[in-house]
Amino acid sequence: MAPIRLAIVGLGKIARDQHLGAIDATEGIDLVAVASRHAKLDGVRCFHEIGDLLASDVEIDAVSLCTPPQGRFEQAKAALDAGKHVMLEKPPGATLSEVYALEALAKEKGLTLFATWHSRAAAAVEPARGLLAKRKIRSVAVEWKEDVRHWHPGQAWIWEPGGLGVFDPGINALSIVTRILPEKFHLTRSDLTFPTNRAAPIAANLAFETDGGVPVSAEFDWRQTGPQTWDIRVETDEGPVVLTHGGSRLVVDGVQRIVEEDREYRTLYRDFVALVADHRSDADFSPLVHVADAFMLGRRIQTDAFED
Ligand code: NAP
Repeated sequence: MAPIRLAIVGLGKIARDQHLGAIDATEGIDLVAVASRHAKLDGVRCFHEIGDLLASDVEIDAVSLCTPPQGRFEQAKAALDAGKHVMLEKPPGATLSEVYALEALAKEKGLTLFATWHSRAAAAVEPARGLLAKRKIRSVAVEWKEDVRHWHPGQAWIWEPGGLGVFDPGINALSIVTRILPEKFHLTRSDLTFPTNRAAPIAANLAFETDGGVPVSAEFDWRQTGPQTWDIRVETDEGPVVLTHGGSRLVVDGVQRIVEEDREYRTLYRDFVALVADHRSDADFSPLVHVADAFMLGRRIQTDAFED
């Protein structure tokens, strides 16, 4: 099969930090164009808008959307309508109805829609899933605490409606938990802390329960300075199974089993190439369903104004 001719839409932090290098390292996919309102990239054709790209003479097979979630629906729809496969950054969109509409459109057009969850590609995730399938789970505790000033400097969109606030990183934890637990779970309590001057939460304290009654707690906080915490601790009948460092390390019953360098985005592009070759989509929106529930059930707590 000829390599997929890809365009990146939205050349911002994640596109530069991860996508460019991962595409370069992946066989079967070549970057041929970029559409970004301000940014440009040497060596490929550059456009301001996806519409200009799709109307141009540049031949592409697929787009990778690295824009903020607000507005991504229109971009993805335009690409699918033009017959292009689509890879979506997480979260896949700003609303549930729009992402389900994209799934249906991709199916109707016979195109690949890949709603990526980069944290699911972390090294400890599949081994943890395999282990937990064989053990009795007693409880799950997620702690996802980072410094928003460090990770999202000057990103206005993240604080606006649809930007998800602290759920922008928190949804990464939910993407792992929905993958490693053998049972589905649902929300029972949601406390959301909003700065007085922001439309999105800076912290969330959540309680869930699995179908079998196992408690799952999650604390997301953007106010953590110093060492950062991206941990999921699962208590089981045989001892704890703990994922740390965002899922790249695994400690089982107190013994470190996996320590691996970041390979998440290379895995995503390898998977995208395989999905396109197999004429398949991969669109699991369950992490976004839990986030939507957290907003629906959320008890609002106000805190001091937040300044960048
Ligand atoms: P970002 O640095 O703000 O980059 C997004 C780019 O999209 C901007 O540079 C901008 O480029 C373009 N854009 C188009 N419409 C925009 C709008 N209305 N507002 C702002 N930018 C707009 O954001 P990012 O951190 O790369 O995040 C993008 C997506 O990747 C998000 O869904 C995020 O959750 C996900 N992600 C981010 C990280 C991370 O570490 N930052 C990690 C994993 C996933 P132009 O101005 O040139 O159009």
